[in-house]
Amino acid sequence: MKIVYQNVVWLLSFVAYNYLCFANKQNAITVGAFFSEENSQARLAFESAIYTTNLMQDNVHYNPHVEVIPKMDSFQCSKILCNLTQHYGMAGIFGPPSLTTTPIVQSICANLEIPHIQINWRPSTPFSERDTFLNFHPDPELLFQGLAVIVKSLQWRSFVVLYESNEGLIRLQDVLKIQNYNKDNKYNTILVKQLGPGPDHRHVKYFVDVLYLLSLFRPLLKEIHNSTETHIILDCAIESTIDVLKQAKEVKLLESVNSYFLTNLDAHTLDFSVLDTAANITTVRIINPGDPNFERALQNWQQYADVHYPELNINLKPFSIKTETALMHDAVQMFIRGVNELHLTGAIEPQKLGCHSGHRWRDGLRISSYLKAKIDPSGITGPVKFDPVGRRINFTVYLVEDNTVIAEWHANNPESINHLRSENDTLSASIKSLQKGVVIVSSRLGPPYLMERKPRYEGEIITGNDRYEGFSMDLIKAIADVLGFKFEFKLAKDGKYGNYDPKKKEWNGLIKDLLDGKAHLAICDLTITHQRREVVDFSMPFMRLGISILYKKAEMKDINMFAFLDPFSIEVWIYTATLYLAISVIIYFVARMAPGDWENPHPCDENPEELENIWDLKNCLWLTLGSIMTQGCDILPKGISSRMIASMWWFFSLIMTSSYTANLAAFLTTDKLESSIGSAEDLAKQTKIKYGTVEGGATQAFFKESNYSTFQRMWTNMAQSKPSVFEKNNGDGVRRVQTTKNRMYAFLMESSQIEYEIETKCDLKQIGGWLDSKGYGIAMPIDYPYRSAINTAILKLQEETKLTQLKNKWWKKMRTEPSCPKGSSEEKSAELALANVGGVFLVLAIGVSIAFCISVLEFLWNVRNVSVEEHLTYLEALKVELIFALNVWITKKKTKPKISESSSSHSGGDAKSIAQSILHGAGSFLHLNMLNKIGTPSRDE
Ligand code: GLU
Repeated sequence: MKIVYQNVVWLLSFVAYNYLCFANKQNAITVGAFFSEENSQARLAFESAIYTTNLMQDNVHYNPHVEVIPKMDSFQCSKILCNLTQHYGMAGIFGPPSLTTTPIVQSICANLEIPHIQINWRPSTPFSERDTFLNFHPDPELLFQGLAVIVKSLQWRSFVVLYESNEGLIRLQDVLKIQNYNKDNKYNTILVKQLGPGPDHRHVKYFVDVLYLLSLFRPLLKEIHNSTETHIILDCAIESTIDVLKQAKEVKLLESVNSYFLTNLDAHTLDFSVLDTAANITTVRIINPGDPNFERALQNWQQYADVHYPELNINLKPFSIKTETALMHDAVQMFIRGVNELHLTGAIEPQKLGCHSGHRWRDGLRISSYLKAKIDPSGITGPVKFDPVGRRINFTVYLVEDNTVIAEWHANNPESINHLRSENDTLSASIKSLQKGVVIVSSRLGPPYLMERKPRYEGEIITGNDRYEGFSMDLIKAIADVLGFKFEFKLAKDGKYGNYDPKKKEWNGLIKDLLDGKAHLAICDLTITHQRREVVDFSMPFMRLGISILYKKAEMKDINMFAFLDPFSIEVWIYTATLYLAISVIIYFVARMAPGDWENPHPCDENPEELENIWDLKNCLWLTLGSIMTQGCDILPKGISSRMIASMWWFFSLIMTSSYTANLAAFLTTDKLESSIGSAEDLAKQTKIKYGTVEGGATQAFFKESNYSTFQRMWTNMAQSKPSVFEKNNGDGVRRVQTTKNRMYAFLMESSQIEYEIETKCDLKQIGGWLDSKGYGIAMPIDYPYRSAINTAILKLQEETKLTQLKNKWWKKMRTEPSCPKGSSEEKSAELALANVGGVFLVLAIGVSIAFCISVLEFLWNVRNVSVEEHLTYLEALKVELIFALNVWITKKKTKPKISESSSSHSGGDAKSIAQSILHGAGSFLHLNMLNKIGTPSRDE
């Protein structure tokens, strides 16, 4: 109903308009417009604006005069224009859109002083205030500045500028100035490439042409893909844009890691959904389709098209309106408003002027000057304002992502940009776009981060992500759950972490995968380092760690029970023992020869009949043994020569025992000496124990690049070591520590990995604290659009203690080997255990046992003597002596055993007790003789 009503109104208006045209034919003001296409949107806007104006007013009537002129033919164009000015008298000329024909139109209009109104981009050319030229298109210099500010606001560290024509390069001149090219700079972040002119779509008619069109840009796009750049600024004609992007998709340059910035102000008219991409595409426009003025204008255009061009079946949508259409609308509206206003102060009467007449239109300059000074606030491309030479200086550039305006740049505040999206909105938008594609995650095998999963039951076929398990897999799963994206795990070809090879001038491992665009994320125990940070981005760290030393604990088999023998070599022991025997024998003979050692056995008897020498072999052995054991002896030689030998022996004993004591201390603390490697400094100080790192890892790089003298020394040591002290991976390093003999290898490793290894490998230990402090992060291409989303997810997992739980799971719970008992500290093994001194106990035990056996033999021998002397049976004597020996409270013994009556009747003669014989042996003849004299008849008697 509404449409019917509107059409009726329009029909009536049309009739009225024609009537008025007829009635006021003489007062009509003719306005000319040049177009390159028969049915352009801008033409519709031009005609519609004039038509609507004529409907609304009756004082001035405008006659539109439209000419469709060839794009490239300036001569034809000049002829048409001159014809118009001569026959109609023009109040203003709009267009043409072509860069080739514009100069001639501009020149003729300037000559005749006819206002010349442009709506298309023109490279900045010097104009004067006397020129009748006005361009409603944003002033190029300001627009370029705006583009540069916008590109800066995208915070891309590097990008490729892809332009189609030379004009495109001019448009991007300010963008190119963001970073100055420096040939010494390792990373020049702006790459400039020309797309080539591209195909002329009007001539693509045949299948061959279509094929040509489809492959035209591919080699260049492939080259960009190989250059690992993911950010592209694309400046090309609106007609080529989708083709370029389609071809980019074919060469995998339209993935979720890629971000595009399209400089074409008509990019909003494109349907990006045909690309079906997760890439981030940012566009700019100067129109605001949500503006009520715009909606009204759109309605007018549609109605005009329905009435005047029903055969074209035009269906206009807010986002199908090109910038030039909106600019044409604003230009016509402002021109007419201006002329109307000037008409009030003095009639505007266009004059018929021949191009070569030499005349000028007196009102032309008046109109253009008036328009330049005027501000039109109602434009659908924003308020319109010009500088004195006719360049548009007031406009707004809208930055659009996913059909949402995310920022605005205003020409009157050119240095800054106004962000319209909150952090949260930005985040949810990025999460939404992340969910569209599949994220490729590159990793490497290495427990506990990623391991091949064994089938849970026989015959289970495992594919895709199920092939692996580990901390990295669980972490990315948890992040994917938080953000809701799908991912696919793949292993880096060379299994390396990521290291720069200055010779090949390329990266390897996981970093290479990211740079080659083969993966969107890289996850493993990948350390965040400044060198890697230059080429890729990292998420916030998900684990904190530092370099530490993995070393082997002292082994039990190292403990020697007979360590007390170690201070002397076996030869020294043999020589000492031989010497002991020899000296004892020498003393024996010398003492026999030395008169001083022949003593009076009865000192009270001044003239003894005989002299006695106590130095039998037994006593000699006893003397030398007592000396070397530093115990001394109860009897000492008295002869000069024997004393001399004894003192020499004492001297020898003194030196030997002190050397032994000193050496023993050193030998028993050997373990402690090795354990004294308690830090990197200790390792650096010595050269005996070798140490190394993983080849091409962050730890190796740490030592290589360190400025600290200890680490530099360690690096020199490591680099010069032969065979190499570097290992392919942590597992090999751990095995080398375990298997190197005498604990001669230590491995510099990251603390988290040490923690994992020493959990079940009880022969290993961590030495000292951390040499540095760093973290593992998820690597991603530079300026990866989903970095903050991933960071948010990691932070969430951290706050929910999920990361700690995951670490616990893979470091402890999932271990198949049992955990090492806690508290088996190094101090314990540094103490002297029983095993260290066990040999000493053993010697004591054996010695005491032998002594005990001898005592038993002595006892039995004595029993035999008693039985013989007392005429008892052996058993009787044994019984008597045994009972006596076991009566521990009896401390005195009669020289004759107390035997039963019957037994005693048989007894006769002297029975020597053990005490007696000992006393005898010790030379207590005095006492025995006394006893003999007093109570017992002597043998001689
Ligand atoms: N995490 C290290 C890296 O990312 C590898 C192991 C190491 O160097 O200790 O390079």
